[in-house]
Amino acid sequence: MRYQELSYWLSSVDEPLAPRPGLPGDADADVVIVGAGYTGLWTAYYLAVADPSLRIVVLEKEIAGYGASGRNGGWCSALLPTSLPALSRRHGRDRALDMQRAMQETVREVGRVVADEGIDCDWRAGGTVVLARSEVQLGRARAAVAEAREYGLADEDLVLLDAAEAAARCHADGVRGGTYTPHCAAVHPARLVRGLARAVERRGVRIFERTPVTAVRSGAAETPAGVVRAPVVVRATEGFTPALPGQRRTVAPVYSLMVATEPLSEATWAEIGLAERETFSDYRHVIIYGQRTADGRLAFGGRGAPYHFGSRVRPDYDREPRVFAALRRVLGELFPMIGPEVPVSHTWGGPLGVARDWSASVGLDRTTGLAWAGGYVGDGVGSSNLAGRTLADLIRGAASDLTALPWVNHRSPRWEPEPLRWLAVNAGLRVMFSADEAELRTGRPSRRAAAFSRFLGH
Ligand SMILES: Cc1cc2nc3c(=O)[nH]c(=O)nc-3n(C[C@H](O)[C@H](O)[C@H](O)COP(=O)(O)OP(=O)(O)OC[C@H]3O[C@@H](n4cnc5c(N)ncnc54)[C@H](O)[C@@H]3O)c2cc1C
Repeated sequence: MRYQELSYWLSSVDEPLAPRPGLPGDADADVVIVGAGYTGLWTAYYLAVADPSLRIVVLEKEIAGYGASGRNGGWCSALLPTSLPALSRRHGRDRALDMQRAMQETVREVGRVVADEGIDCDWRAGGTVVLARSEVQLGRARAAVAEAREYGLADEDLVLLDAAEAAARCHADGVRGGTYTPHCAAVHPARLVRGLARAVERRGVRIFERTPVTAVRSGAAETPAGVVRAPVVVRATEGFTPALPGQRRTVAPVYSLMVATEPLSEATWAEIGLAERETFSDYRHVIIYGQRTADGRLAFGGRGAPYHFGSRVRPDYDREPRVFAALRRVLGELFPMIGPEVPVSHTWGGPLGVARDWSASVGLDRTTGLAWAGGYVGDGVGSSNLAGRTLADLIRGAASDLTALPWVNHRSPRWEPEPLRWLAVNAGLRVMFSADEAELRTGRPSRRAAAFSRFLGH
C-alpha cells in the first residue's frame, strides 16, 4: 500500500512512511496499546513521561497515522460531540463546565508538547470562525452565544460577529455574521501523529507496525506474529473498532471526506482572509470544516458519505465521488474568488467513531485491565490528548482532576443490531441533508432536524 495516497497530509510529510518492523514474536509489557493514532500515542506519551521505567508496547495494523489521525481536517479544537446542555443534563452543570474547561486547556497542552518535542506540524492557534450565511444560520449563531453565556462562558470563549467582523476573518460569499472562538489551532494532522510516534520512541516506547491485533482480552493482545502479555491492554482503534471480536456494536464507523486545493495565489488569499489560519465552518446542519494550510491550500471536508451495512470499514469507502463533487461545489459557492473551477489536487476520507449516545468516553476496567478511549465523532484531535492524559492517570492509579471528569468510565449503550443500525444512521444523515435544503428553500429553521438533534441527545 502506498500510504502517501491516503490523504493530502500523508503525501506531504517529510519522510518516506516506511513501516517500522512488526512484532517479532511473543512479548511481555506493562501496558500494551492497540492502535497508533493520536489516542494510542498520547497515552503512550504521558505514561512514558510519568514513569520512564514502564515497558510500553504499541501494536499498529498498518503504520502510525494510518487511521483518522493521518487524514483529518486538522482542527485541534475544544469541541466535544456532546453539547454543554446535554452534558449538564447527564452530569450536572459544574461537571459539564469542568469538561469544557479541560478541553480548552487541552488545546494549549497540545501546543505546549508540539513546541517542547519539536514536532514540526504547522501549528497555528488562530481560533475558529463559524459563518452564518442566512437568517436561519444567524439565529443559530445567536443561540450558540446565548447558550455559552448561560454557562458562564464569556466573549473570550465565544463571541458573536456582525457581517463585517465575520467577513474580515473569512470573506465567504453572502456572510451575514458568525461566531469566533480562540480555542482552536490549525495543524498538519499527519505531521502531528508522525512526530508524536517519534517522540514516544525517544522515550523508550516500542511501536510495532503492520501488526494487526486479532483479539483483545484481559492480560493480552493477540496478533498473528505472537501474543503481547500485559496487565493493562488499551484499545485505541476508534473507527476500526467494530472489526475486533466482540466489538461490532461499540461504535459506528461514519465516514468524513475531504478535498484539498492546489496552493492558491496570494491575491486570492488577500480576498479570502483567514490571515490567522483560523479554522472555519458555517451553521448548516451537515457539518463542513476547513483550514488554510501552511502551504496556502484550502483543505476542506464534510460528512455525507453513507454508513456501510454491518459497520464495515474498507479502503474503497474512503472515496465517494458524489461527496467530493459536493465539497468542491460548496467550496466554489463559499469562495467565488477562487474562480469558476476550484482546482482540487487531492481527495480522501476516513472513518471516525460514533458511540450510540454520541458521547466520547475514556476508561479502565480495573478487574480486567482493559482500557479504552474514543467515540470522539469528528472532534478527536484535541480530545484524544485529554483521553491520553486521563488514561495515563487511570493506569497509574493516580486520582486527579482529569480522572474526575464526567466522560471517565462512561459506558455508551451498544448500537442496535443490523439492519436497524444501517437504517437509523443513514436516515439521520438524510434528515440533516434535507433540512439544509429545506432551510435554503423556505428560509425557516427545520423542525425535523431539531427533533433529530433532540433524539440524539445533543
Ligand atoms: C476526514 C476526517 C476529518 C476529521 N477532522 C477532524 C478535525 O478537524 N478535528 C478533530 O478534532 N477531529 C477530526 N476528525 C476525527 C479525528 O481525526 C479522530 O477522532 C482521531 O484521529 C481519532 O484518533 P484515534 O487514535 O482514536 O483513531 P485513529 O487515528 O483512527 O487510529 C486508530 C488506529 O488503530 C489502528 N488499528 C485499528 N484496528 C487495529 C487492530 N486490530 N490492530 C492494530 N491496529 C489497529 C488503525 O490502523 C489506526 O492507525 C476527522 C476524521 C476524519 C476521518
